[in-house]
Amino acid sequence: MSTAADIRDVIIIGSGPAGYTAAIYTARANLKPLIFAGSVTAGGELMNTTEVENFPGFPEGVQGPELMDKLEQQAAKFGAQIEFEDVESVDLEGEVKTVTLASGESYKARAVIISTGSAYRELGLPNEKRLSGHGVSWCATCDGFFFKDQDIAVIGGGDSAMEEALFLTKFARSVTVVHRREALRASKIMAERALAHEKIRFAWNSEVADVVGENKVTGLKLRSTVDGTISDLAVTGVFVAIGNDPRTDLVKGVLDLTAEGTIAVEGRTSKTTIPGVFAAGDVVDPTYRQAITAAGSGCVAAIDVEHYLADVE
Ligand code: FAD
Repeated sequence: MSTAADIRDVIIIGSGPAGYTAAIYTARANLKPLIFAGSVTAGGELMNTTEVENFPGFPEGVQGPELMDKLEQQAAKFGAQIEFEDVESVDLEGEVKTVTLASGESYKARAVIISTGSAYRELGLPNEKRLSGHGVSWCATCDGFFFKDQDIAVIGGGDSAMEEALFLTKFARSVTVVHRREALRASKIMAERALAHEKIRFAWNSEVADVVGENKVTGLKLRSTVDGTISDLAVTGVFVAIGNDPRTDLVKGVLDLTAEGTIAVEGRTSKTTIPGVFAAGDVVDPTYRQAITAAGSGCVAAIDVEHYLADVE
């Protein structure tokens, strides 16, 4: 039987920009947050990248892992308890919530913030991972600027792929859209814009067989989906735009999700469909998915938790 002393004010699940920002704010509000950072992916998506040039406050840019290390230190400095463990299940109903780890241990809290992020779909090629941050990217907003006057490729045929391709024309010399079929899946208006753009070319009926390059991307091997033949495409950048999956496994069937698969929250708040349960970062965001928006949303969740706890006291 747990006693009142075992019941925390707040548990935060996830240690990306959203989770660590929520930890900094709740720690400074004296709520003594316990944060489960994850065992393998602690620090979140920015651990997989190199230079981050668009996080405010770093005019010279900052390496993704260094930024996350600073956020971790800042949360710890104010007293957040950080555990590098994976949460396996949650029981969110009622006034006291239970969070159970993969090890079987359970923890209780009156409020929970879910900031488990989302995962960009990958092509699944070994060289794609190896060259991530060295020419392979999943985010045109983040990395487009690095590809001025270069020939680059966008992989995918949906709306987000067209959006990435059109955005990248601001920087690149040419953008080749690589698509498995002979027609785009994107909405008519997006497809028409991309098809009409002078800088955008199309490699139809093609899939990526390999990403080529020693230390940086120098090209792609494309395989025809019609006859299997292999061809070369000389590019120095590759943007993979084949989808994004919010990490909602813990709360599927428990919290309402949106049509895009993100956790549904009330208006501009972080309130989910269960009182005392809040969500922040990319797991609630089908649109912006930036470190700064995730951090801002972690701040919102922390302040929502403060107000919630003050009201139930
Ligand atoms: P994440 O960073 O995804 O963190 C999720 C956290 O949840 C992780 O700590 C993970 O360990 C944890 N977690 C998940 N499940 C569990 C569980 N069951 N138990 C415990 N913990 C769990 N944005 C920019 O603004 N600028 C950039 O330059 C930039 N570059 C990027 C480069 C790459 C390669 C990628 C993939 C993304 C980039 N982004 C960039 C986007 C940015 O990384 C994300 O928008 C941001 O990290 C989202 O923060 P988050 O806190 O919501 O989630």
